[in-house]
Amino acid sequence: MDISKKKGRKRSSDPQKWRQNINKVLRNTGNSYESKKKETVPPRQVKPPCTERCRLKCSEKFTSVQRQALFAAFWAIGDIDKQRLFINSCMSNVSPRYKYTNALHPRQSNKAFHFVMDGKTIRVCKTFFIATLNISDRVIRTVKQKCDKLGIIQCDPRGKHNNHRTNDESLILDIKKFIDAIPRIESHYTRQTSTREYIDGAKSIKDIFKDFKENKNYISWNDIKIIKCEKGEPFAFFVKSSYKDNEFKKICVRNKRKKMKPLSELTTVKAYTGKQELSENKKKDLKELVDKNLIPHFYKDFYDTIL
Ligand SMILES: [Zn+2]
Repeated sequence: MDISKKKGRKRSSDPQKWRQNINKVLRNTGNSYESKKKETVPPRQVKPPCTERCRLKCSEKFTSVQRQALFAAFWAIGDIDKQRLFINSCMSNVSPRYKYTNALHPRQSNKAFHFVMDGKTIRVCKTFFIATLNISDRVIRTVKQKCDKLGIIQCDPRGKHNNHRTNDESLILDIKKFIDAIPRIESHYTRQTSTREYIDGAKSIKDIFKDFKENKNYISWNDIKIIKCEKGEPFAFFVKSSYKDNEFKKICVRNKRKKMKPLSELTTVKAYTGKQELSENKKKDLKELVDKNLIPHFYKDFYDTIL
């Protein structure tokens, strides 16, 4: 028996099964999917074409079956970069009738839209084009923008940046060191078939985490008892995890991985410029709380000044 293959039970990751990625495939193929806000987005379908008033008479050039075929072919691509390439291949430049050559931003040439059907290139209006594929005007704008001077569309950059949220490396290192320092015992029963190591069974993962926090000065939100801010320390706050603590622990909240503006360049904007008026209902509520002594009588003078 090959022992090396039997080591451990850790699952390997399968990104295709992640909810986000399942939804991405569904979205890119025009199917119904769950948005990030967990709302169900209905599947895409061909929308009604332009009316008979259209100058290009698009509706007369395509049957609804042909439109359905164009739609299906587009969404079967299932890849946003390739879909953009397709859209780009359907657009060509037409010069605007009027163009001020001395304008600061001269008019960009307009785009004409085409579909290819049975080997023939057929011009359609933009309304017909986006209704047939059920895409948004924004996709067209994106394609126009992304298509650089050489006619090459840049790949979709979403999710490909190098600024993903990660755990602080020093924290991970600390955790690893801490775990390594826990004494191991060999398993009496599986020694022969496994190189897995065991720690004394008296401690649960929760206990180990508790030990780690106490040992390393990390603090969890739920443990905070007192919180304090200081004017001179805008990027830190101070906490006590026990009323018995003599000193506050300083917690820095500034993102250390990102390049942040220096403090001197930060300007604060006043949220209010005048006194905020209380609503009549709020005043009524407060008055009731004071009258019932739910707000201690001690504060009555203060509330009398605002009510
Ligand atoms: Zn039309």
